[in-house]
Amino acid sequence: MTQVKAYGTSSPSEPLEQITINRRAVQAHDVEFEILYCGICHSDLHQIKGDFGPFPPPIVPGHEIVGRVTAVGDHVKNFKVGDLAGVGCIVDSCDHCEYCNEGIEQFCDEGVTFSFNSPDKVSGGHTFGGFSKTYVCNERYVLKMPTFKNLAAAAPLLCAGITVYSPLKHWQAGPGKKVGVLGIGGLGHLAIKIAKAMGAEVTVFTTSPSKVEDAKRLGADYAVLSNDSEEMNKYSRKLHFIIDTVSAKHDVNAYLNLLRHDGSVVLVGLPPEPLEIGAFNVVMGRRSFAGSNIGGIAETQEMLDFCFKHNITAESEIINIQDVNTAFERLEKGDVKYRFVIDMASLKN
Ligand code: NAP
Ligand code: ZN
Repeated sequence: MTQVKAYGTSSPSEPLEQITINRRAVQAHDVEFEILYCGICHSDLHQIKGDFGPFPPPIVPGHEIVGRVTAVGDHVKNFKVGDLAGVGCIVDSCDHCEYCNEGIEQFCDEGVTFSFNSPDKVSGGHTFGGFSKTYVCNERYVLKMPTFKNLAAAAPLLCAGITVYSPLKHWQAGPGKKVGVLGIGGLGHLAIKIAKAMGAEVTVFTTSPSKVEDAKRLGADYAVLSNDSEEMNKYSRKLHFIIDTVSAKHDVNAYLNLLRHDGSVVLVGLPPEPLEIGAFNVVMGRRSFAGSNIGGIAETQEMLDFCFKHNITAESEIINIQDVNTAFERLEKGDVKYRFVIDMASLKN
């Protein structure tokens, strides 16, 4: 065990503060790295608020983690000290079920180990995320970070990037496809960039007037203020696929009606409350309402390489760890364009 400085909390009603955690000792197949940058995802906010249920204290969030390797176990083949490394949401899985064998570890039969707030099969405790100085996990779940010019802005690709890349690819966004993006936050703004790079026509739907013009700067072909019913009607039965990144309860029926026949609204946002679907909105037009959960390790590597090739990173506001509670307050209000990334050098030893 190594004692490591981190930022965490023991209760949803308490702010994050500096604490000390124990990282497991480096095992034969493990990589240890010093964390350079960590993105802040809305899932971190849901978890520390207790939206997904109670958590064993303390919780240390952060699952968009990039760093530089400081130690490797005796059997590690693909990393050496000094290499760049990335870790997203998945840090362990059974590695033998049909899902792991297919490379969709996110659906592992025995359940994946997430990078934080998950039982750690190796140490017997629970995992601590990237709001800390170091990370240790099996090399099978560590990504090779391409040499992005702005490494900090690449950190959000490890969750936000793969979460939108995977469904865009699965539902075949590409030339000739009209793709809708619902919600322009961390996930949504990367969905615009990635869908455009795949060759699709992109229309975004936002509740924020200030993001309408900005969506075009990010590459969207069209941007619609979702409370403008006249504008919304123009897209009725026009889109092949809509990726829904909204983090709170909202009316998905309005978006099902924008689909062509056989179109799909795919939810990646995780509103804590159930959403209602009107039967006619799916029955008429043979439409689907589906969901998607991050992506597997191989697909995450593919996404990183795709984003490197297309020069895609997140629009990032870099903060010090001491400002993390203010960042969460601003994220809750939608006051970030479009991802906070923590410079972990600010967490002094
Ligand atoms: P974010 O940066 O806060 O973006 C969410 C966006 O949703 C906001 O910017 C806002 O966009 C829109 N929105 C928020 N509240 C709304 C409301 N009440 N009605 C309508 N629109 C609203 O969050 P994020 O980090 O992108 O994450 C988005 C969601 O995805 C979260 O629930 C997160 O937990 C989830 N998530 C899921 C996965 C997965 O694997 N499925 C992975 C990562 C994250 P506008 O201002 O444009 O309206
Ligand atoms: Zn996330």
